[in-house]
Amino acid sequence: MLNTQEILDRMSEKGLRITDQRRTLAKLFAETDGYLSPKDVYEYMGRQYSGLSFDTVYRNLRVMHELGVLEQIVFEDGMKFRVHCAAGEHHHHMICLQCEKTYPIHFCPMPMTDVPGSFQVVKHKFEVFGYCETCQREDHPLKSGGNE
Ligand SMILES: [Zn+2]
Ligand SMILES: [Zn+2]
Ligand SMILES: [Zn+2]
Repeated sequence: MLNTQEILDRMSEKGLRITDQRRTLAKLFAETDGYLSPKDVYEYMGRQYSGLSFDTVYRNLRVMHELGVLEQIVFEDGMKFRVHCAAGEHHHHMICLQCEKTYPIHFCPMPMTDVPGSFQVVKHKFEVFGYCETCQREDHPLKSGGNE
């Protein structure tokens, strides 16, 4: 995982101005072992910066995602962000639905899709959701799966 300084370095490399708020955001994500929803971040930031709007916080999250310092996953209860895995190269994730632990997958299924060459691909997403070994040992209602 990236640390605070690595996050800030990557942001300034890409020409982003490092404001006090962005420094606080970088520190928050570097020190959080898991996902944060925009609301979580807004509540945390709102305690330190009065009058901060949700839009400003959300815009910063989006910029940090676009710069590759944050990863964004859409869970059933909404979008969440976490610090990017240090793995620099293109990768995907498998995510535990119970504890939200995330593991990188270094295989990319994109070349195996039947997207025609005439379609200009800009980006793609591929995420695998399930239960990690620890969470499988605990009884979970969704665990069995398959028989709806
Ligand atoms: Zn990752
Ligand atoms: Zn788990
Ligand atoms: Zn890929």
